[in-house]
Amino acid sequence: MTVFRAWYSLSRRSFSTASSSSSCPLHVCIVGSGPAGFYTADKIVINQFSRVAQHERCSFFGNVMLGSALSLSELRELYHVVVLAYGAESERDLGIPGENLKGIHSSREFVWWYNGHPDCRNLNPDLKKTDTAVVLGQGNVALDIARILLRPKTELASTDIADHALSALEESSIRKVYLIGRRGPVQAAWTAKELREILGMKNLHIKINQADLLVTPVDEEEMKKSRIRKRTYELLSKAATAAATESSHPGPGPRELHLVFFRKPDQFLESDERTGHVSGVQLEKTILESDGTGRQIAVGTGQHEYLHCGMVVKSIGYKSVPVEGLPFDHQKGVVPNIRGRVLTHASREESQSEPGLYVCGWLKRGPTGIIGTNLQCAEETVGSISEDVVKGQIAIATGSKAGGEGLRQLLEARNVKIVPFKGWEKIDAEEKRLGSERNKPREKLVSWEDLLAVGTT
Ligand code: NAP
Repeated sequence: MTVFRAWYSLSRRSFSTASSSSSCPLHVCIVGSGPAGFYTADKIVINQFSRVAQHERCSFFGNVMLGSALSLSELRELYHVVVLAYGAESERDLGIPGENLKGIHSSREFVWWYNGHPDCRNLNPDLKKTDTAVVLGQGNVALDIARILLRPKTELASTDIADHALSALEESSIRKVYLIGRRGPVQAAWTAKELREILGMKNLHIKINQADLLVTPVDEEEMKKSRIRKRTYELLSKAATAAATESSHPGPGPRELHLVFFRKPDQFLESDERTGHVSGVQLEKTILESDGTGRQIAVGTGQHEYLHCGMVVKSIGYKSVPVEGLPFDHQKGVVPNIRGRVLTHASREESQSEPGLYVCGWLKRGPTGIIGTNLQCAEETVGSISEDVVKGQIAIATGSKAGGEGLRQLLEARNVKIVPFKGWEKIDAEEKRLGSERNKPREKLVSWEDLLAVGTT
């Protein structure tokens, strides 16, 4: 659903909903309008996301940045319950030499670029000076990126990819993409449906080193415990066998996807010809060792190899960013919580929960899971809210809160341009209208000016 559009779902922008109790209405504010936020509202209100936003007891406040338009403490003054569901707006670093060279992008930037997020529309990845891109990490985001880089441009043209990205990809000279994992094929983080999609792409040569597919008894155990791991491993084995047959009868199409395992990036190397630009990645071969908790981790062997490339995307996971006044566990990159109740301190066992403050989604459990995972996550958080209301731990009795009306007044006094849900619908309609002129599902508005011009009139 288009409500996942990045500028709502990936920013700390809020909508709020007020639900009535017998005497005094309980005012609930949910910050974030991605799946976690909407599933949280759904448990409180109704089924469909857009119907939630249109519900008479729900007010949608788009384009409101928590932390700059208003503070968390101000929000908590206005509402009995605040649920933070604003996801993960930053990314993990590798912390290896050369990470700042030009031509190295984070997956967040790259995905935001091709999805038309205004903050990354000027990323301009250079796709013309190299035939090789390296994607580090083997999760679903890495697969998405490889697919965008390798998909025939005629197919991309009929999707809702941002126009600037389509133009750049049409001129791209990238023909080879390396997807590199520090662990083995059994441990790769992608899921079967997404892996099958890329392995099934037409005219794409899949390259997998057969030796990487050998499994140990520990791998076998892992596969017994996880159907996903087993399924993805089988898909890779099948693809490797098919590729081995194909190499003796090479088909048409010059594009290649290399799935490389047991390699961890060690350093990025600078080009001699293009100062400040990446020319390759040094990889260290790895083996797997148990970390004592049943998980196998990658350990370097001291053997290195060099992979030449002109572009790198680091797809090693996202990271949440705290706002002022929000307890945060920097090591885990999440808000400390028990079943969605925010804890005052990250590490203290006797830690108290913050009254009326809850989390949901990636901010609560870290950047994992598919969209549906947020449904269970929201159910748990809403369960905690309900229990706390019943136990009288939410201060409804101490008086009414200003809720959405108070929020509106505060934002208007600060000249914040609020995008109501009707404005969101206008943006949606305008993008679809522009798309229909070009046989696309939509043509995205990719600047804040254009979005606000349509969404606030
Ligand atoms: P992810 O699934 O956590 O994958 C991250 C990858 O990066 C893993 O292969 C991980 O390897 C690797 N990695 C992490 N730190 C590393 C390091 N320091 N050096 C080398 N490799 C490192 O993250 P994601 O791909 O960003 O996806 C985030 C979530 O969104 C996932 O739950 C994903 O399923 C979901 N998603 C779903 C869809 C979909 O349903 N279509 C699409 C996109 C994303 P290790 O395993 O060794 O740590």
